Amino acid sequence: MAMIDHAVVIVGGGPTGLMLAGELALAAVDVAIVERRASQDLAGSRAGGLHARTIEILDQRGIADRFLSEGQVAQVAGFAGVRLDISDFPTRHNYGLGLWQNQIERILAGWIGELAVPIYRGHEVTGFAQDDTGVDVELSDGSSLRAEYLVGCDGGRSLIRKAAGIAFPGSDPTTSSLIAEVEMAETPEWGIHRSAFGVHSFGRKEYQIVDGKIVYADRGPVGVLVTEQHVSAATEPTLGDLSAALIAACGTDYGVHSPIWISRFTDAARQAVAYRKGRVLIAGDAAHVHPPDGGQGLQTGVQDAVNLGWKLAQVVKGASPESLLDTYHTERHPVAARVLRNTMASIILRREDDRTKALRDTISELLNMDEPRKRFAAMMSGLDIRYDLGDGHPLLGRRMPDLDLVTANGPLRLFTLLHDAVPILLNLGEPGGLDITPWAHRVQLIDAGCVDTWELPVLGAVTSPNAVLIRPDGYVAWVGDLTQLGLADALTTWFGPPAGAPVRSSAGAQMPGNAQTFIVAIPSRSFLIGT
Ligand SMILES: Cc1cc2nc3c(=O)[nH]c(=O)nc-3n(C[C@H](O)[C@H](O)[C@H](O)COP(=O)(O)OP(=O)(O)OC[C@H]3O[C@@H](n4cnc5c(N)ncnc54)[C@H](O)[C@@H]3O)c2cc1C
Repeated sequence: MAMIDHAVVIVGGGPTGLMLAGELALAAVDVAIVERRASQDLAGSRAGGLHARTIEILDQRGIADRFLSEGQVAQVAGFAGVRLDISDFPTRHNYGLGLWQNQIERILAGWIGELAVPIYRGHEVTGFAQDDTGVDVELSDGSSLRAEYLVGCDGGRSLIRKAAGIAFPGSDPTTSSLIAEVEMAETPEWGIHRSAFGVHSFGRKEYQIVDGKIVYADRGPVGVLVTEQHVSAATEPTLGDLSAALIAACGTDYGVHSPIWISRFTDAARQAVAYRKGRVLIAGDAAHVHPPDGGQGLQTGVQDAVNLGWKLAQVVKGASPESLLDTYHTERHPVAARVLRNTMASIILRREDDRTKALRDTISELLNMDEPRKRFAAMMSGLDIRYDLGDGHPLLGRRMPDLDLVTANGPLRLFTLLHDAVPILLNLGEPGGLDITPWAHRVQLIDAGCVDTWELPVLGAVTSPNAVLIRPDGYVAWVGDLTQLGLADALTTWFGPPAGAPVRSSAGAQMPGNAQTFIVAIPSRSFLIGT
């Protein structure tokens, strides 16, 4: 490959890299992905579904139906084996979706294909060097790419994170598990079981959800998950390892044979101390790894991407200063830190000894009470995420509900307005009562009526605002009463200075502000997502 320039190069075309590429492409940024896999095919299965907030995020881009039509809708949120029903939550997607990661990646790859994002497949990034104006990205075939910004979405062993010298502190594994797709001569009892070592579970790969219950296919490969007796090194597991682990946990290996794939994961939990080093950023598993309990890794990565995408687009276009990128770390680091905390707590509750069982029963009793159920369900489904944007109306920093609006062009759902990832100032007061002329080329001003009750997960009903400024990621940046107090500041903070005013870059250079045009439920291991 000859040296090619792109505004942004993403290393890794997993769920995080694909989502980020889509977000940048929507903002008309020249973005490319370098992916070492020759095709999108995934060895193994990994994530088994989507939680409610991730489905909402996809709905904000108008692509949720592509996933919903291939998956199985179910109540998948859970904590430590306790299922948490969110069917009474105020969202159009008051459920999760069982859908394998390879299907999720295929659909995302199809979307970014439509957005014409180039993917350099079969290429491995081996290093990079950054200077004041960009980053040279080295590839294994000796060629290189030049980018203004480089984003490492290259998974838990991220070369980009390591080469950037970003520390990755956390805890070493205390337990390891094998996960596989195999044939079995005997039929094990389907579902989740516990032993002194932890959890093991069995289920056919093909299943349906009928009346909220998993119904397995009569035949076909079996998905197995088993906790090993001793923590194993991160080496390639064999059929012998799987057989031994099954015998230790269940007393038999059920005649396991013909593995399609076998892999090992641990409960190591680590998080990058910084999500940005100069012109290099990291997202997804590259920034945080943790046990799969609760099924939160892919969700967190996709949502990292949606937080970073529009910010990076604005910086690349010169509309916002580089300091906007620091809000990516400030907002997303605490979200993953909380995921690490809840997965580590879940690990302790996996075992089956008397004391652990007593603790799990106690937690289960608590989670069956309404208030704790709502709080934990909102956490596990991602619906309660709040970025700290200061005090004020409860909507500030929280996800904007997908309200039914009435506009001059007729009725529409609010999420429809977010399909192109352009910010919205929603004026629910006097039509024409808000003026944002200096930002009109970057922010859509919508006069609308709304009769819906404003209700947020866990918090319940909140006062109807007069106006709301909504970021492209669907989070509320400003809430207005009858005045425009604070609106200009919020617009400047998030979408750059008004037309004609200078954009101060972190290097102190000035650019004209108007120079830019804005154009789960895995049956065999369903405890992971709590069913
Ligand atoms: C057993 C298991 C079950 C799980 N279940 C769930 C679940 O139910 N729900 C959930 O949300 N999450 C789950 N996860 C976590 C989920 O799989 C990950 O969080 C998710 O894949 C992270 O996506 P990513 O794009 O950040 O990284 P990855 O998916 O790891 O993608 C990284 C990509 O970068 C590429 N790459 C790496 N290095 C280079 C390089 N140097 N050059 C070029 N390309 C490179 C890789 O080939 C890969 O395609 C599970 C994980 C495991 C192991």
